[in-house]
Amino acid sequence: MIESGGGLGGRRLAPGERFRFACRPGLACFNTCCRDKRLPLLPYDFLRLRRALELPAVQLLTDYVELEADPVSGWPALRIKLTEQGVCPFVTDQGCSVYPHRPTCCRVYPLARAVRPAGPGREPREIFLRQETPGCLGWDQPEELDAAAWVRQQGLAEYQAANNYCLRLFMHPARRGEVSLDERQTHAFISALYNLEAFRPLAASPGFGERFGFDGDRLDLALADEQELLKLGVDWLAGVFFGG
Ligand code: SF4
Ligand code: SF4
Repeated sequence: MIESGGGLGGRRLAPGERFRFACRPGLACFNTCCRDKRLPLLPYDFLRLRRALELPAVQLLTDYVELEADPVSGWPALRIKLTEQGVCPFVTDQGCSVYPHRPTCCRVYPLARAVRPAGPGREPREIFLRQETPGCLGWDQPEELDAAAWVRQQGLAEYQAANNYCLRLFMHPARRGEVSLDERQTHAFISALYNLEAFRPLAASPGFGERFGFDGDRLDLALADEQELLKLGVDWLAGVFFGG
């Protein structure tokens, strides 16, 4: 799985390798990077944005999101719908209007992270790459740090933990090649990972736990906490699509 707004190009960072980068208002390039970009929305990105904007999931999906199939994996891929001028709808003259809730791709830049499962009970394996974009003056700044420091500075840890959980589905060991979901399966994918308002009544319905192998404690936890509900959605889809 790739966390990036610009694919997986760029030079791989060695573990602990330091780089010079800083982004701030006042740079001549300020805000120019919030346009003409693919801005992927992973499930936790969507949840945070939905809470920030205080919108129903269906409205956020309709007004601000585009859906396509990921060209490599085939999974449905959601991204922020740019304006007709090719600009992110959340950018203002002062910067990002949803900054505390900006998605993974905006936090991780100027890096990209590629992550894959490492086996049962082991932390996923990750690599970071430099994503040098023409016109970005951040690379000329004096501040020096490594990927771990960038992750801390950008508040990425909770996003990456949630994204890592999705590996159980996105990189399921039973997946063979490109995924091809029909309309009904795509609807289930969107409901369980994005439209939690639609998934919650399904998870609460009589017989759901027995049918899909979730005990009462797990269901209670999920129904009380949206982040747990999202994890339940990941596991439910893994069961539905791959048998567990
Ligand atoms: S420094 Fe780079 S990331 Fe920051 S505003 Fe400029 S172009 Fe965007
Ligand atoms: S969400 Fe914020 S940081 Fe990301 S592209 Fe939009 S305005 Fe820029």
